[in-house]
Amino acid sequence: MEGNFDLAVIGGGPGGYVAAIRASQLGLKVVVVEEREMGGTCLNRGCIPTKVLLRSAEVFQEFGRCSEYGISASAVEFDYSRINQRKASIVKRLRTGVESLVRGNGGTIIPGKARLIDRHTVEVAGTRNTIIKAEKLIIATGSRPSKPSIPGMDGSRVLDSDQVLELKECPSGVVIIGGGVIGIEFATLFNLLGKKVAIIEMMESLIPGFDGEISGLLKASLESKGVRICTGSMVTGIESGASAVCSFVIEGQRQSAEGEIAIVATGRKPNTESLGLDALGVTLDRGYIKVNERMQTSIEGIYAIGDVTGVFPLAHVASAQGIVAAENAAGMDHAMDYSVIPSCIYSNPEIATVGLTEEKARKTNKDVGIGRFPVSTNGKSMILGEKEGLAKIITDSKTGEILGAHIMGPRATELIGELCVAMRLEATTKELSETIHPHPTVSEIIMEASMASEGRCVHVH
Ligand code: FAD
Repeated sequence: MEGNFDLAVIGGGPGGYVAAIRASQLGLKVVVVEEREMGGTCLNRGCIPTKVLLRSAEVFQEFGRCSEYGISASAVEFDYSRINQRKASIVKRLRTGVESLVRGNGGTIIPGKARLIDRHTVEVAGTRNTIIKAEKLIIATGSRPSKPSIPGMDGSRVLDSDQVLELKECPSGVVIIGGGVIGIEFATLFNLLGKKVAIIEMMESLIPGFDGEISGLLKASLESKGVRICTGSMVTGIESGASAVCSFVIEGQRQSAEGEIAIVATGRKPNTESLGLDALGVTLDRGYIKVNERMQTSIEGIYAIGDVTGVFPLAHVASAQGIVAAENAAGMDHAMDYSVIPSCIYSNPEIATVGLTEEKARKTNKDVGIGRFPVSTNGKSMILGEKEGLAKIITDSKTGEILGAHIMGPRATELIGELCVAMRLEATTKELSETIHPHPTVSEIIMEASMASEGRCVHVH
């Protein structure tokens, strides 16, 4: 018996560890049970390691273009094992930080696999089996990669995202099954490293759910860099021999793509099976835990947050839900607000989006206005050597209300925060365009796109 707690958090990802810290700040005695590493998927197998690899790939690619900047360098090479070392060191540093934040706030971390025995009892199987008693529970067990049942999916050359991040050497070429966010990030990584890349996507466009114009620009950008893109293509089988050969059907024609490995990036599934939820009567929906806007499950005193709820599987949403759940568990009354959720793709150039796509906006009763500003005319982007992309702001043209914003361009993932704040404060394009932005910066494309939506863009005629 490990002890009695006010709150037990199952899972130490960006949902769970943030919830634990917030609950500790509010005076609760908190324990986090984590069966793998603190930081969860995000820190160990997701957001962070992928971006570390992408950063090395960007630097490599920039060196390759150094003559554009008046610099000469010969024999620019990369060493994948050293790139991996940098990844491991950053992950370790951040993980240590997360652990000390949880402990520093008074929380306890218990390693092991948790299973709920009843509403107040958690059994932990680890190096030391133990029983925890807690007044309230937050389930933050996240998700894991799932592979569709296609012949050959279990072949030795077919890897999921976890396995790709463990590769010791850079593959000579990859076939990526799935052109969503994760697939595009891996495509960008290996393309920047100079490797052969093919993407096979079942839907008619890449990054389904994103703004159609941005999706089209991304496709054109990747194709211009030599990536083979097959949309509307159904994979029928994969052979793992000397290489991975992926067969698919496009417009009724059989085709194939070959690479050293195939990467499956078609989706994830929630970690709910072995938690003992059925016995407790926690309501699930296709394996995901059903929650209300206060992050309460169907059982009083049990909350669920993050990927395991199936609501926006993003680290920043998991953390926001974690704060809401912790505050409610501590007796406050806090509801989630999903009206402004940014979503980013670390492609090259980056993509960032918030709010309605043009397609969705046109389905509302509003009089939709669009303001666009191309990256190619922005001074700072030229200085950075970038010319691809645009800022696109979608408005209700009667009121100037910002319905959505989509940016493809350098530093797009940093710029989207401004639009998030604007939307949250219900700012109009008038206020955005009259806000003096610093020069020269890429952020000026937001001001110019707002001006464009009002028909008064200065730097494009
Ligand atoms: P997780 O991070 O999955 O954490 C859950 C934790 O629970 C895990 O550590 C697990 O070991 C533990 N656990 C599970 N079951 C038990 C149990 N029974 N007992 C004890 N512990 C248990 N999101 C972004 O916002 N930005 C990005 O750039 C981004 N990039 C990504 C790239 C990749 C390749 C992947 C795969 C995902 C990416 N994501 C990104 C998504 C992001 O990682 C997830 O949305 C986020 O990690 C979800 O957080 P979570 O706390 O719900 O779950």
